[in-house]
Amino acid sequence: MASDTIERIREKLDIVSEIGAVVNLRRSGKAYKGTCPFHNERTPSFYVFPETKTWRCFGCNAGGDLFTFVERQQGIDFREALALLADKAGLPLSAGDDGPREPSAQSQARARLRTMNDAAAVWFHHQLLTAPAATYARDYLQSRGISNESIERFRLGYAPDGDALARYLTGQGFEPEDIVEAGLARRREGDATGGLYDYFRNRIIFTIRDGREQTIGFGARELGGGTPKYLNTPQTILFDKSATLYAFDQARESIRRLDQAVVVEGYVDALIAHQYGYRNTVACIGSAITAKHVGVIKKLTRRLVLALDPDAAGEAATLRAIEVAQEAFDHVAVPVPVPNSAATAADRSRGKRKVLPQGMIRFEEQVDADIRVLQLPDGMDPDEFIRADPPAWQAALDQALPLIEFYFTSQLAGLDVRSPEGKLEASRRLFPLLAGVGDRVKRDAYLRRLATLLRISERDAEMELRRHRRAPGHAKQAESQEKPEDIGDKYYVHEAGMPARKPLGSLLGQPASAASALEEHCIALLLSQPGILPDVCAILELSDFWGTETRALFSALASAPGPLTPGARDALLAQLPDLLSAEAQRLGAEAAASPAQDRAHLARTARQMAYRLKRLRLSEAITELSYLQREAEDQGDREAIRTLREQGQRLILARRSLDAADVLQT
Ligand SMILES: [Zn+2]
Repeated sequence: MASDTIERIREKLDIVSEIGAVVNLRRSGKAYKGTCPFHNERTPSFYVFPETKTWRCFGCNAGGDLFTFVERQQGIDFREALALLADKAGLPLSAGDDGPREPSAQSQARARLRTMNDAAAVWFHHQLLTAPAATYARDYLQSRGISNESIERFRLGYAPDGDALARYLTGQGFEPEDIVEAGLARRREGDATGGLYDYFRNRIIFTIRDGREQTIGFGARELGGGTPKYLNTPQTILFDKSATLYAFDQARESIRRLDQAVVVEGYVDALIAHQYGYRNTVACIGSAITAKHVGVIKKLTRRLVLALDPDAAGEAATLRAIEVAQEAFDHVAVPVPVPNSAATAADRSRGKRKVLPQGMIRFEEQVDADIRVLQLPDGMDPDEFIRADPPAWQAALDQALPLIEFYFTSQLAGLDVRSPEGKLEASRRLFPLLAGVGDRVKRDAYLRRLATLLRISERDAEMELRRHRRAPGHAKQAESQEKPEDIGDKYYVHEAGMPARKPLGSLLGQPASAASALEEHCIALLLSQPGILPDVCAILELSDFWGTETRALFSALASAPGPLTPGARDALLAQLPDLLSAEAQRLGAEAAASPAQDRAHLARTARQMAYRLKRLRLSEAITELSYLQREAEDQGDREAIRTLREQGQRLILARRSLDAADVLQT
């Protein structure tokens, strides 16, 4: 049940012209189609349905309403999308929906810290430009090739020795405890009267801003032998270094436009990249990239280039970074039935539906992202490389190695693959890795590449791979027993039991309401029993939620940094805009009214509900496709017919596998 505000915004805004402003849409029957802004494609599989005010991409399975679109396309959260769309629709928002609705003490504390950070940033910057003691800092920045314009734009600063900042801030009326709270100063030992000394002393200051360009913390590099070399603002209520990317405020627009983010390690690397026009560059703060960093980036793009330090230690770090990045991107869970060894050949030839015994299904995960690794010549940092030859950086980015290739190369380093021992060792290291690649097309391409690297024939490589795929501990991947051709045409007439022709609106109307009820149930269950979140997340992704509020709530709940305890749930709910917390209260009350169940039972209920929702989403997509396919046939659009048919086959297979998995759940 959408709130009035959301409903009115949807009514006021025309989804076709809103999406049409960023995607080139053309009419296709009752729908509009274009190339998807969320994945790379040449043939359009992105559709907007004005009657239901929804959109869907059959290529990458993204979809939803205008809110979803705006959130994904601009990389903003629900609150920001709400503010933006309400503004466009000319509808005022109530105070609780507009601004942050936090417990007032905390929100006041955050506001105080923001103001203070801003004041400190201006002061540090002023020191850098004018203080005689900052000469060395200015010289240093010049020696690193940082222009005055960059110093301005990134508001670089200088922190002198002593307690000058603390005295300045106190003089501006800030309370000593707030200055300490902000991580800008510390208390002198045994001095309860408020004696402070600055946290950053004799350092160059890098101002760290969030995506809304608000100063949330600082990074500082020592000048003249102090330790540590780099020092950051400690964790505060504004600053979490594991979730913050340096230069993100300046890079955001460019990342979205270029559909690529480049991650470097150092502040100066990022600064120099921006200075030479490579504005889609961000730096992780501290050294390692974290899942939270990737979470920030993946709202804008799924194409990531890691340009990390090239030395040996850097390589181990790169491998770790890759793992983190891979983990943090969404995984498309593809349920794969394992062929039933008990089923006889005769059964198979009669096409009997196999009943899978427990445990004979697994979800194969594919990372839904393009992660590449840029290798620089030994001993060269990105900033040196860019300054030496700016255009070469673009060439290096273009040649960044796909992940698996980077693995291959790094695993083969130091091995002589011409010798039999070298080949053997290389196979031992690499084939298990290759056996884990789910996408068959990719796997074949890697296999060919690996054969070349190992100087063996493709046939030998294939046999080796088969041996590894059969090896114990590696669950066999089954391409489904049915070949896609076998189910080609029948689906669009009979699947979903739809009469062949029905107006689009009524085709889409039915399943949508059933699905939204399921979405609400899922959220209600999660609200009352937050502990079942992992059960639900194992099956559903954010993109399975199409309701504006349910999606925003799921997104909020799933963003919990640790396990979703009742406490964590309440903290998350407290941050929500009013209209969402009203919805959360309504759903929570609904769940509380149902009889109590034990944990295992609840988890099972949740999983079943999640399966049903996932299945419904697939069925909806299949129904929509059948409609579009028919229309393409009427228009004689052969390319569209072929593409839609392929996409339909994929969806049908996915639904069958899901059904097989569901058998195990009941
Ligand atoms: Zn797409």
